[in-house]
Amino acid sequence: MATQISTGASELRDITKMERIGAHSHIRGLGLDDRLEPRTSSQGMVGQAKARKAAGMILKMVQEGRIAGRAMLFAGPPSTGKTAIALGMAQTLGPDVPFTMIAASEVFSLSMSKTEALTQALRRSIGVRIREETEIIEGEVVEMQVDRSLTGATKTGKLTIKTTDMETVYDLGTKMIDALTKEKVTAGDVIAIDKTSGKVSKLGRSFARSRDYDAMGADTRFVQCPEGEVQKRREVVHTVSLHEIDVINSRTQGFLALFAGDTGEIKPELRDQINTKVAEWREEGKAEIIPGVLFIDEVHMLDIECFSFLNRALENELSPLVIMASNRGMARIRGTKFRSPHGLPVDLLDRVLIVSTQPYSPEEIQEIIKIRCEEEDVTLAENALAVLTSMAGQTTLRYALNLISCGQVIARKRKSDRVEVDDLRRAYTYFMDEKRSVQWLKEQQGSLMFEEVEDEQATNA
Ligand code: ATP
Repeated sequence: MATQISTGASELRDITKMERIGAHSHIRGLGLDDRLEPRTSSQGMVGQAKARKAAGMILKMVQEGRIAGRAMLFAGPPSTGKTAIALGMAQTLGPDVPFTMIAASEVFSLSMSKTEALTQALRRSIGVRIREETEIIEGEVVEMQVDRSLTGATKTGKLTIKTTDMETVYDLGTKMIDALTKEKVTAGDVIAIDKTSGKVSKLGRSFARSRDYDAMGADTRFVQCPEGEVQKRREVVHTVSLHEIDVINSRTQGFLALFAGDTGEIKPELRDQINTKVAEWREEGKAEIIPGVLFIDEVHMLDIECFSFLNRALENELSPLVIMASNRGMARIRGTKFRSPHGLPVDLLDRVLIVSTQPYSPEEIQEIIKIRCEEEDVTLAENALAVLTSMAGQTTLRYALNLISCGQVIARKRKSDRVEVDDLRRAYTYFMDEKRSVQWLKEQQGSLMFEEVEDEQATNA
């Protein structure tokens, strides 16, 4: 087992990251310049200069790989951009650096223990960049024959490829035939086949043009094989997370569990074996560790056991940067009787870099609303923008941002593409903000069902 740890490279390479849509889809980065100074409005980010700058400094440490055992906490009132800044960090890091985002409440699940859920989240946030050598067969297709006598899922066939001085015939299996068919390969095409992954790329229709290797990546070496055919060895680099390696090598799960997300608990012995193997790969120069970021939103929802586990996990050499966010002030630490800033135990707080976020000015709110309107493709009348900005001041930024799309639906009903003050006014009467909701509940005392809360412990336990 230990010698056959699979990275699942060929299965994983084609999974493209899903684009995030929703509340933060306008965030494209932290909006900092080269000197890490925050631009007033850039990459969808507005204001919150200090926090963005601090986030930029932390990112620099991540990029330099100097982050083991680091944790930071975004602390500030609701809707002040804590999650937005964390996502801006993820965008800046790019797709090769793992960024995992969880809400603290996700840790409490019936299917696995809290510490297992945290371990999986931590290992999702550590990337392993693996270098593998692969052989590439390249040449012009002379003929491709698929055996039509076979029925069912199994296919066989032959492929004749011509290089500058000779022709070679290859036996084909189902996977290769499917790959060639998918790329619509026909005689006369110049193709390259990656022998490890079975990936087929079309390079053009003339062998002379096939010298354009950019399409295939860098680091190509020509090798004269014993049979005389021209093949190339190429270095392929791919990044997978430690958690993905865990799941792929777990006997009961297999890599399909990655798609279902239903990975269950993974045995500690397996993780030890994988850590040892990865350490070996590192020594041999085959792999490199890419520490990423684990973002835990609403961190005050974790309990004392989780906090003590995190405290220890941060000391591990294979620890990602842990970013936490909380909108609580003094709060009870779950699972104890004690209160503490942001609901975090002091020993954890002690090792955390705390960054505070501040409420926005009306100008900043207006700019954020404008950006969101552009993102949601909504035209807002000038006076409607002013009204929405003042609504955000009286309610919350998040509530005002929600009204944009509601206003659009109302405007469309009267066959207009422009949201006017009246549309917003109507949306405001349809949907309550938090303050009005509380007021309404007070007025409804007696007619709604209310749950008796005996003491504070019952509410927070
Ligand atoms: P909570 O404590 O309630 O979770 P939060 O501090 O995480 O709040 P966000 O969810 O980040 O707040 O912000 C609310 C909305 O405002 C989101 O749609 C977010 O993208 C947007 N937003 C917040 N700050 C900024 C900013 N500085 N620039 C652009 N958009 C922002």
